[in-house]
Amino acid sequence: MSQAPMPEEMNVYQNAEARFEVAANKLGLEQGIYRFLKWPSKEVTLYIPVGMDNGQLEVFTGYRVLHSNVRGPGKGGIRFAPDVSIDEVRALATWMTWKCAVVNIPFGGAKGGVICDPRKMSRGELERLTRRYTAELADWLGPERDVPAPDVGTGEQTMAWVMDTYAMHVGQATTAVVTGKPIELGGSRGRREATGRGVMICCDKALAKLGMKKEGCRAVIQGFGNVGSMAADLMQKAGYKIIGLADIGGGLYNESGFDVPKVIDWVYTQKKALQDFPGGGTKMSARDVLFQSCDIAIPAAIENQITEKNAHQVQARILCEGANGPTTWQADAIIDAKGIFTIPDILGNAGGVTVSYFEWVQDRQGFFWRESEVNERLLDVMENAFDEVVRYAELHHVNNRIAAYMLAIDRVASALKLRGIYA
Ligand code: NAD
Repeated sequence: MSQAPMPEEMNVYQNAEARFEVAANKLGLEQGIYRFLKWPSKEVTLYIPVGMDNGQLEVFTGYRVLHSNVRGPGKGGIRFAPDVSIDEVRALATWMTWKCAVVNIPFGGAKGGVICDPRKMSRGELERLTRRYTAELADWLGPERDVPAPDVGTGEQTMAWVMDTYAMHVGQATTAVVTGKPIELGGSRGRREATGRGVMICCDKALAKLGMKKEGCRAVIQGFGNVGSMAADLMQKAGYKIIGLADIGGGLYNESGFDVPKVIDWVYTQKKALQDFPGGGTKMSARDVLFQSCDIAIPAAIENQITEKNAHQVQARILCEGANGPTTWQADAIIDAKGIFTIPDILGNAGGVTVSYFEWVQDRQGFFWRESEVNERLLDVMENAFDEVVRYAELHHVNNRIAAYMLAIDRVASALKLRGIYA
């Protein structure tokens, strides 16, 4: 049976390209550099054999894309999900290049993914899949080449397996080959909270910029995984009122605000459905949570949530993107016309890769920082990046998203010109 083609608006690679083109034109990027930055540096498709628990041999399809190593080694997560595609991995790799450049850390962009459903696989199956995927990429990965991290469907344990497999191949412990590892194996303090903390820092800055108060500021968050739950927890502790939450099972809206640690306990310790949280308020779809009356809307789940069809329903004053690609490029104009202050994904969720960079630095030094040092440095990087994006937007009369792309493309293009093309 043939699958219906994906609507153009939903193709994340086309979404990434559309913004790149607008920003590159605004910058007046020369044609040669434009062509160089438009395409990934290299891509690989892997067919990964895994012995399943039932004795059958299964073959999974996986990818790794290195978009750019102009400013440093490739950096980007590994996603395990049923709907992974080469276009998605390519888009995510491209975004990593721009994201690392926006926060000015010395990495390029990369991403990996395997088409699988980790929720339906045993721990042993996941370990074997991860190890074979890593073994196939043993010559590709490396602290100076390409450094993976967790993404949707992978986590600290996955990174521990990647590191161990890589170490077995090169014959030495190499902690800096991955980030997002357990602390015991060279992970960084503060990494787990880093993306959520970065989201909060951006929201704090946006409130200050718009002259709004933090105390009682009403936020809705879609996605209750690493990014969403950490952002919710940190933001509530800082004085925000979290009035909407959602995960894959649906959303909940409660005007009086959630007690976030209790929701975390309900979902993560008691392993109950978010929507069944007692006294939780009005049930709705996960998407509708983003369209409730609030001051800040934070999509922190998956791509393509705010589209041309529904963007007019966003009621927030600030849109802070925790997820990668939650807003399609066709929706940008509608969001702009409504005067919503947008913190684009390549800035909003860059706290994660920033602390990944700190982890890589600490691993290479063999010297580990206190959590307060990590958080202080993260604050510094994120605040600077926010200020630079907003300054760029004002200077070039563009929205924050295009400004972030312009700033990033400019930085990568300058580095490329200094290096020159080896041909
Ligand atoms: P995660 O797997 O920990 O959590 C994902 C959350 O989204 C879960 O609560 C899940 O139930 C929910 N979800 C999945 N499908 C959904 C749907 N259709 N509708 C509503 N909710 C849905 O993943 P994460 O690490 O929190 O990543 C979330 C997003 O943030 C992704 O786009 C990821 O690429 C991006 N991101 C993550 C990091 C990081 O450090 N973890 C850094 C940068 C960007």
